[in-house]
Amino acid sequence: MVYAADYNIWHQCMGHPGDDILHKLSEMVKEAPKLITIPMVKKPCEACAKGKMPSRSFPPSVLQAMKPFQIVHSDLKDMIKRSFNSYHYILTVLDDFMTHTWSFNLKKKSDTIIHAQQFVAYAKNQHDASISTW
Ligand SMILES: [Zn+2]
Repeated sequence: MVYAADYNIWHQCMGHPGDDILHKLSEMVKEAPKLITIPMVKKPCEACAKGKMPSRSFPPSVLQAMKPFQIVHSDLKDMIKRSFNSYHYILTVLDDFMTHTWSFNLKKKSDTIIHAQQFVAYAKNQHDASISTW
């Protein structure tokens, strides 16, 4: 089957790959179109531009945990694009002592409190630990 393929549609559908990947797509995927024409001049892709922006780092902390779950750090990030399953945010929780990180996909910002409560319960029930500083 031969059909014209729109560069922008395939770029978005494939998760915003670089041009080199789109160029090789027909070799790697059986049903991929053979005629993806990569334009010489492209309009800027908002998702790619946001994905390349660095996040500001957190200020240094003088606190240091002496045992697991004593101090945890968290961050709530907005996904560049809503996921296939309609998740829009990623909550990450980092244990200061173990440097182990958990991540949770959220559909609404307000789901953060539910996951935070579940994380506190997880620390208590699975590790017999209480979080002193969040
Ligand atoms: Zn893109």
